[in-house]
Amino acid sequence: MIKFLDLQKINAQYETEIHQAIKEVVDSGWYILGKSVTTFEQNFAQYTGAKHCIGVANGLDALILILNGYIELGKLKQGDEIIVPANTFIATILAISKVGCTPVLVEPDEATFLLSEKNLEGHITTKTKAIMPVHLYGQLVDMSVINACAKKHNLLVIEDAAQAHGANDNGNIAGSSGDAAGFSFYPGKNLGALGDGGAITTNDDALAAIVRVLRNYGSEKKYHNKVVGVNSRLDEIQAAILDVKLKYLDRDTEKRRQIAKRYSTEISNPKIQLPQWDFDKKNHVFHLYVIRSNNRPDLQAYLEQNGIQTIVHYPIPPHQQKAYQTLNHLSFPITERIHKEVLSLPISPVMEQEEVDMVIKTLNGYGK
Ligand SMILES: *Cc1c(COP(=O)(O)O)cnc(C)c1O
Repeated sequence: MIKFLDLQKINAQYETEIHQAIKEVVDSGWYILGKSVTTFEQNFAQYTGAKHCIGVANGLDALILILNGYIELGKLKQGDEIIVPANTFIATILAISKVGCTPVLVEPDEATFLLSEKNLEGHITTKTKAIMPVHLYGQLVDMSVINACAKKHNLLVIEDAAQAHGANDNGNIAGSSGDAAGFSFYPGKNLGALGDGGAITTNDDALAAIVRVLRNYGSEKKYHNKVVGVNSRLDEIQAAILDVKLKYLDRDTEKRRQIAKRYSTEISNPKIQLPQWDFDKKNHVFHLYVIRSNNRPDLQAYLEQNGIQTIVHYPIPPHQQKAYQTLNHLSFPITERIHKEVLSLPISPVMEQEEVDMVIKTLNGYGK
C-alpha cells in the first residue's frame, strides 16, 4: 500500500537529532517559554523574512490571536467583516467567528483554488476591515494583488499560511507579505511538530507585542495581567524538534516539488484534471497535490483497489457545515464543484521513485 503520508518515515530521517533535541529540553529543567522557543522563533522569523515570530499552541490559535491582537489595538472590532475564500479549511473561518467578526465568503479562482482580484472587489463594504487569503495546498496567493486592493480600501491582510511554509514568489515569502500570518505545525504540515504547534509572523511591532502578551494569560510580568489573554504557547520540546526540521525544510520541499513535476508531466488521462502551476517558480510548496475528477468516488475506489491511498481536502465546504447553519442558504457553485471533485495524491519528501512511478502508471490506466 502506498500511504498518503508516512509521518513515521518522515521523522525517522531526523531521529538522532530529534532525540538529542528532546534530551536537551528534558535535561534543562525548563519546559515552557524558554530557550528553545526563543531560538525557534528567531530562526523561523528569519526563514520567512518577517521581523517577528511568536510561537503559539496551534494554527487555529495563531489566527485567533492575530485577530484578537488587532481588536486590542483598536484596528478591528466585533461585527467587522473579513473576506475569506469559501473553499478554505474550516479553521480560517472558525478564527473569524471566534472573535465575533463576520466571515464574508467569496469564491476562489477555479484554476488555482485561490483568492483572486476578480473575487474581491464586489464584496467590500463599509464594514470590511480585513482580507484573509489562504495559501491553499501550499500555493502562494498573488499577494501583490491582495495588498493593492487592501491598500486601496484600507484593509488588513492576514495570511493563513498553515499549508505554505517556505512558498516564495520572487522574494514574496509566505508569512511576510501581509500584515500578519498564521502558521500551523500540525504533524502532517510541511513543517510538522510531533504534536500541536503554531506561530504568528508579522512585521508589525505593536501586533507582535500584544500577541506575545495574549498567548500567555495577557501577562508580560508574571501575575500582572494587562489584557484578557489565553494560554496558547508553543512547547519547548516542540520548538526544539521544529528547529531541527526547519534546517531540512527547503530540501524536503524540493523533493515534494520534484514529485509534483513528475505527476504534472507524466500523468495523462482525459478523465483526470491536473493542478495548474508554474514549474519555474517556487511559489508552490506542494503541501498537497490535488487532482480533479468528475467521478471522484469511482477514481478513489480504483486507486484504493490498486494500493494507493488518497484523501479528500475537503469533502464539505464550510458554508454547508452544520456548525454554520447561518451560511447554509448560500450558494457557491465553484466552491461546491471543487469540494465534489478534488482528490489529493500521495506526496511527501520520503516517497520513493518507484511509488511515484506506480501512482502515475495507475492513474494513466484509469478507465482503460
Ligand atoms: C491546518 C490548518 C489550520 C489550522 O492549524 P491547526 O494547527 O491544525 O490548528 C488552519 N488553516 C489551514 C488552511 C490549515 O490547513
